[in-house]
Amino acid sequence: MAGKIVGIDLGTTNSVVSIVEGGESVVIPSAEGDYLFPSVVGFSKTGERLIGSVAKRQAVSNPDRTVISIKRYMGTEHKVTIDDKQYSPQEISAMILQKIKTDAEAYLGFPVEQAVITVPAYFSDSERQATKDAGTIAGLEVLRIINEPTASCMAYGLNKESENGDDGKTETVLVWDLGGGTFDVSIVEIGGGLVEVKATAGNSHLGGDDWDQRIMDWLIEEFKAKYNIDLHSDRLAMQRLKEASENAKIKLSAETSTRINLPFIAADSTGPKHLDFELTRVKFQALTADLIEQCEEPAKRAMSDSGLSIHDINKVLLVGGSTRMPAVQDKVRSLFNKEPSREIDPDKVVAMGAAIQGAVLAGEVKDMVLLDVTSLSLGIETVGGVFTKLIERNSHIPCSKTRIFTTAADGQTIVEVHCLQGERELAAHNKSLGRFELRNIPPAPRGVPQIEVTFDLDANGIVNVSAKDMATGNKQKITIQSPTNLSREEVDHMVKEAAVYADEDAKRREESTIRNKANIEIDTAEHTMRDLGERITPEHSRALRDSIDRLRMSMQSFDLQKIAADTKTLSDTLFAISTDAYYSLETGRVGAGAPGSSALKRPEDRIETDEGSEEPADEELFGWFDKKG
Ligand code: AMP
Repeated sequence: MAGKIVGIDLGTTNSVVSIVEGGESVVIPSAEGDYLFPSVVGFSKTGERLIGSVAKRQAVSNPDRTVISIKRYMGTEHKVTIDDKQYSPQEISAMILQKIKTDAEAYLGFPVEQAVITVPAYFSDSERQATKDAGTIAGLEVLRIINEPTASCMAYGLNKESENGDDGKTETVLVWDLGGGTFDVSIVEIGGGLVEVKATAGNSHLGGDDWDQRIMDWLIEEFKAKYNIDLHSDRLAMQRLKEASENAKIKLSAETSTRINLPFIAADSTGPKHLDFELTRVKFQALTADLIEQCEEPAKRAMSDSGLSIHDINKVLLVGGSTRMPAVQDKVRSLFNKEPSREIDPDKVVAMGAAIQGAVLAGEVKDMVLLDVTSLSLGIETVGGVFTKLIERNSHIPCSKTRIFTTAADGQTIVEVHCLQGERELAAHNKSLGRFELRNIPPAPRGVPQIEVTFDLDANGIVNVSAKDMATGNKQKITIQSPTNLSREEVDHMVKEAAVYADEDAKRREESTIRNKANIEIDTAEHTMRDLGERITPEHSRALRDSIDRLRMSMQSFDLQKIAADTKTLSDTLFAISTDAYYSLETGRVGAGAPGSSALKRPEDRIETDEGSEEPADEELFGWFDKKG
């Protein structure tokens, strides 16, 4: 049986591992007999490593030597220091994966060497790469990194097909994933064996832990009011409170009231004190109402990003243990006006989907394709500091986009390809991914060289950028290896900021475009004057000079309308004069007009060669590299 591929949901609070057996995805239990592997690593004073539930149990009483939520640091330089030894997030994650691998092997009775691991859809390249590295350190060959919502849909997609054989219909699904520490909303299309994520949004600091904390705070407050003892400073008491709070929360998902009883939690001069309170679901929901409200904003953002309306959503999937709370389900029902699906255990669904992807890769399950989306747009810097996007935010991955660019100056032999990620109009406001130069471009007038820039985004979300000079075939490229380190907050922040600054950015971009056009027109006019020499009449020469001077003057100002108008005047003047000059070539007479004929090729006449695009000539589509070298 060797060679089976497991699916691993490497979670912030808990991890789960699954495998497809006999066409069914089944979850593999830990050595402790639980299907959840707490993503916790502890180091005992004697140097022993504690992983999973044993580590979780001692977490509050041994916080300095316990690592929790390491997933938040994946892909960063963050280090964990224990006894003067430093551990990277990859190494800590690898310890969790190692435990999963060992337990799975013991349970299955054969070696586990290959895995599909899931990550949040918003994970950047470096976070994906770090996750992959963690697998490698743990002795696993990571065949694919897939997005968590995609995995959830894989689990449902397969179920659907095997249950009713319906594979022709497309469904739009909203995945509502509320785990222990994070909240993610994704909008996914499923149909005909296809799973496609259309948009994602979320809050990386909202999860079951916050609900636990509210119960804890309440207990501490009540206890203080009753006995005037503050439990905050007592670590052991805090550990017991935390466990009791989570248990109470879980009970309140099924019952309307629960008793929280912690004997001997504290003591004072009058003797030992016992904590004993009744918590009703109503009270619990009142304590946490604002947390439920916080779920709304990301849900709305994902909807608006996808361009869909509530009516387009056919199904809402509940993923993550915290979706067992009745208040969460009520919120989903009221937001989407339908009953959410809970057919698959919300803790297991992601790992089960990952296992299915493993089975697809192993050829055991056929007719299933995966498509995911990018969380931020990708592009390059062009003249005037403008950010020109090649791959738009929420594009499906893997994908590849090519556009033709040219030089901004005569004789320019070097261009710099500055790769960026973000949503703002100007390069400086976006995240730089890296830059490289394409050299030895044959000297030519500006606008003539054709430089093909390609962005390739692979299935794991890793970016390759190349630039090719079409004349010589010279090519340069980079792989974005140690790129963004963008956290979820940064992604969210960048998207929000882009919306806030949209008007301002659009203005600056417009200004940049107008000034760029003016410069090109002046340049062209001066060239033309030189080239035509004698064939231009003195009046025409004067008219052209005047137009150029006027435009130069207006460019000193901030009056964009005037610059645009004077550019147009210069362009028209030039057009008439050059037409005239060419006509006079034919007739031998200087100054004879020939309406309608234009032999001058202007940059605007060039078209973009984007694949399948038949856009008309438009200088917006035609990128110019800044002068370089
Ligand atoms: P996950 O990260 O998806 O494993 O979710 C873990 C979170 O789900 C933790 O905060 C758990 O306390 C919470 N959870 C698990 N079961 C329940 C339940 N029945 N009711 C409320 N929360 C739960």
